Amino acid sequence: MSINQSGWRPTAPQAGGADAPTFTGNKALMLEEALIFEIGDTATTGVDFTGVAAAPASDRLGGLARSAPIGLPGLAEPEAVRHYTRLSRQNYAIDLGLFPLGSCTMKHNPRLNEKMARLPGFSDVHPLAPVDTVQGALEVIHQLAHWLVTLTGMTSVAMSPKAGAHGELCGILAIKAALAKRGEGHRTVILVPESAHGTNPATAAFAGFSVEDIPATVDGRVDTAALIARLGPDVAGVMITNPNTCGLFERDLKTISDAVHAAGGYVYCDGANFNAIVGRVRPGDLGVDAMHINLHKTFSTPHGGGGPGSGPVVFSEALTPFAPLPFVEKTEAGFHLVEEENAEDHHADSFGRMVAFHGQMGMFTRALTYILSHGADGLRQVAEDAVLNANYVLRSLEDTLDAPFATSGPCMHEAIFSDAGLAEGFSTIDIAKALIDEGFHPMTMYFPLVVHGAMLVEPTETESKAALDQFIGALRSVAERAKAGDQALKTAPHFAPRARLDETRAARKPILVWKEPVPVAAAAE
Ligand SMILES: *Cc1c(COP(=O)(O)O)cnc(C)c1O
Repeated sequence: MSINQSGWRPTAPQAGGADAPTFTGNKALMLEEALIFEIGDTATTGVDFTGVAAAPASDRLGGLARSAPIGLPGLAEPEAVRHYTRLSRQNYAIDLGLFPLGSCTMKHNPRLNEKMARLPGFSDVHPLAPVDTVQGALEVIHQLAHWLVTLTGMTSVAMSPKAGAHGELCGILAIKAALAKRGEGHRTVILVPESAHGTNPATAAFAGFSVEDIPATVDGRVDTAALIARLGPDVAGVMITNPNTCGLFERDLKTISDAVHAAGGYVYCDGANFNAIVGRVRPGDLGVDAMHINLHKTFSTPHGGGGPGSGPVVFSEALTPFAPLPFVEKTEAGFHLVEEENAEDHHADSFGRMVAFHGQMGMFTRALTYILSHGADGLRQVAEDAVLNANYVLRSLEDTLDAPFATSGPCMHEAIFSDAGLAEGFSTIDIAKALIDEGFHPMTMYFPLVVHGAMLVEPTETESKAALDQFIGALRSVAERAKAGDQALKTAPHFAPRARLDETRAARKPILVWKEPVPVAAAAE
């Protein structure tokens, strides 16, 4: 924290200076905040019991009484409230404005979802409660499973995976179990397109497969010919994202699936971008064997700092026997949890479990609320509006920013730009940082890897035209300044509490534990 010690008045205001020289370090309503351990005082908080020290009390702790201070921060209630409120103001949130992060689908979380998830019968349910006392909760899981299977045109769904990446692992483990059952454990290669989300190759490698890249064509789609040419007896399957991370629909997916199946492999589809096609396309019709659905993207449950994810995985008929437990099943007697594989029943080949219990109940309730409040026509409109909004962004900015696939036809739910054409020495990071000064969270940067200096913008279907126009105006102005070589951009953001951080060091060597500062005298020795 830098505090101007010279007096109460700010020294010469450096407009936009990263370290605004005010006495407090505050920038209007953006307040500097020290760590919680650096504020407050344990000597002045808490409750004093008068007379306790004087009373003779026997020590029954057997020598285990604390001999040093407990080491917790000492804040009064208003100080604690202010601390966290101030920190919250330094964060961007979907409830503050448009969140253009491509691939993340940061969209409005309807309050109705929250209201339903907070009904005590759902929010207080315990995973170990006897099944006959939680029939309603099981019915929610069962109904949501029904709609996920219906919307995707698949055979079954495993509800328990807790995020997209966890769902990928679930799908790949089912493929592995299916191959083992066929005695084809020698199929050890998973093909992944170059544009894939990093979780795809990581999942395949984690599950013990070797990963081979499939190149992209110049129009941003999977090179189908190259993929088909690589198929063979060592290939376990492919992992393909559709719509892909360049925001384009993989038109050849059915051809690819047919070829993969003919060669004895399975098709995993990364369904994180399902919001662009929900109600319009059923992945089951495209030959997909397993696909995760990010409830926290497509079905509007909160994510990022806002809540846990949930990544149910839908399966084709071929992979259904290998899906993990538990399953909710409807019987004459009510809803029933299949918790263990059993030789007589149809889950005998299940590969096991992904989690201890049943998945994210709160997310299930929110997602089902969202599905039922939209209905079939409303969900179709979700996809249409997501695509319309992304194309509006793409076409509004392609005259200013390089748009590598602008000629590949309409985009789907996200628009991709690159830093080609900016002034010498300017790149994507300068645009991203300058957007912070404009009051927006930056777009996704440098991903997908197939586009140099990529900027991936996903407005989502929940933005109004006015909100899109404001964002487009901001991005246009920043892009024009980067093309004109405006040096102020190189040190942006100027109005955020922090400017440019060493992000690599922050990621690789995070300091997560506060240590009491060494007294100056000791440090000098
Ligand atoms: C978000 C995303 C994932 C991973 O999902 P998580 O829920 O973050 O684990 C995988 N693939 C794509 C394309 C994504 O956008």
